[in-house]
Amino acid sequence: MAAAPLRVLACGDVEGRLEALFGRVRAIQSKSGPFDMLLCVGNFFGSTSEAEWAEYCTGAKKAPIPTYVLGANDQETVSYFPDVSGCELAENITYLGRRGLYSGTSGLQIAYLSGTESQHEPAPAYSFSAKDVAELKTSLLSTPNFKGVDILLTSPWPRDVGTFANSAGEIDTKKCGSKLVSDLAASLKPRYHFAALEKAYYERLPYRNHTVLQETPQHVSRFIALAEVGNTSKKKYLYAFSIVPMSLMDPAELVKQPQDTTENPYRKSQKEAQKSKAFLCAEEESACQFFFDLNKHQGKKRHSDGKEGGNSQPKQAKKPPQPSGPCWFCLASPEVEKHLVVSIGTHCYLALAKGGLLPDHVLILPIGHYQSVVDLSSEVVEEVTKYKSALKEFFRSKGKRYVLFERNYKSQHLQLQVIPVPLDRCTAEDIKESFIAQAQEQKIELLEIPEHSDITQVARSGKPYFYVELDTGEKLFHRIRGPFPLHFGRSVPAPLPLLPVPVSGGADAGCACRAVLASDAVLAIPHRADWRRCEAERAEEAAQARAFRRDFQPFDFALRA
Ligand SMILES: [Zn+2]
Repeated sequence: MAAAPLRVLACGDVEGRLEALFGRVRAIQSKSGPFDMLLCVGNFFGSTSEAEWAEYCTGAKKAPIPTYVLGANDQETVSYFPDVSGCELAENITYLGRRGLYSGTSGLQIAYLSGTESQHEPAPAYSFSAKDVAELKTSLLSTPNFKGVDILLTSPWPRDVGTFANSAGEIDTKKCGSKLVSDLAASLKPRYHFAALEKAYYERLPYRNHTVLQETPQHVSRFIALAEVGNTSKKKYLYAFSIVPMSLMDPAELVKQPQDTTENPYRKSQKEAQKSKAFLCAEEESACQFFFDLNKHQGKKRHSDGKEGGNSQPKQAKKPPQPSGPCWFCLASPEVEKHLVVSIGTHCYLALAKGGLLPDHVLILPIGHYQSVVDLSSEVVEEVTKYKSALKEFFRSKGKRYVLFERNYKSQHLQLQVIPVPLDRCTAEDIKESFIAQAQEQKIELLEIPEHSDITQVARSGKPYFYVELDTGEKLFHRIRGPFPLHFGRSVPAPLPLLPVPVSGGADAGCACRAVLASDAVLAIPHRADWRRCEAERAEEAAQARAFRRDFQPFDFALRA
């Protein structure tokens, strides 16, 4: 199935500097052999190119390579492009058209969209509108077995392309570029996407087009922005690469993921858009009386004067979902065991675990009623991260590393369990291996989450899972697939499924985590594996909490707020 790769050149804004461009192309070709085509994005024509262009039109000069260009980005250059559906502008120079798919005899598929984004319908001749993008998407996505395109050419950058990525230098990718282009790229899944107009060169790390562990792997996409031809700061404007059309590629080869592949920058922004929509509907939350009560017990002040405190109280931005019944972990609820609370931030708090594995087994909990990390808003996530690093420092100062796990199974209120393990007992690698070994034994599928992935990218809201995180940032994830093993229909006789059979990865998942940590391989305290056998007297719990608070104080950012 091996097909000879095509050799392609891509170029940023030409701005009418045809001599400079073609001179460079000739030099490259004489040095490293012929290329099959040259693709130009951004402004092909500049305002001062009339005379030079005339020589190409008359045939006095000729492009050294089949050259494909996008249309105008402003009113001044519209007249250079006589036919919106594409046409030959001069020998060897082809205008691709307003939007569409170009597929040459090689099988290479090139999707293109000319112009800049317009908010208006109909868009001016040098712009595209939401309707153009929707039509282009529909025409391509409706082809049978659509997997993506080889190349996408647009003039503007896609908005948010820098999310999860290496820095785009001086370009702020949250503000620059077109949202419609992001939307198009998210749907067309180009293997290469070229853009220009920003006078900058930027090669983004490749990003994936599937969600890890939820979808079958797909090819990665590479975004490359190119500078303008002949720029004085020597920014890269010409990009050479070779490519085998995806239609001719071995499927396994096509979906290979380079080591530095990141999350999809556009999926996140879609998800955030949905989240912020949900929050706009929620009401503002007013005063939170429990802060005052707890501060008294805690003996530590944020501003200890209750009356004045109103102004300086941390702002609870949005109202989290309300529990349907009594909740042990909503900080405002009467059920919460306040004597175990050891630190209170703006969105989260720390409490010692009831019947903890160790006296300093601590929980990170959201103050409001959130079910899992997937449901947290970004400011809550931010504070969870702050607590994690404070605890990491705190435990490191005591010669320990923490292991964190979340069991999102039949739990109403998110609890991140943080358990310190003495550094000299075992390495992070040992801990990881213990989990993996235990999972194998219990036939639990435990997957390592790729380095650049976040738990919220892998887990789905409302779907049970558990995950383990080491303070090195390494994460292991297991998706819980319902209360019975998948194979139960085949192997269990009919009346039995009604019995509460213990199942791998289900109700036991949290206990399994505890068991791993209590085991000889890690903490060697097997007698503490079951929390029900670890319950202490209330006075003892309160003393442990006091001790923890005292020791943690230098690391507690919530006290410095
Ligand atoms: Zn709750």
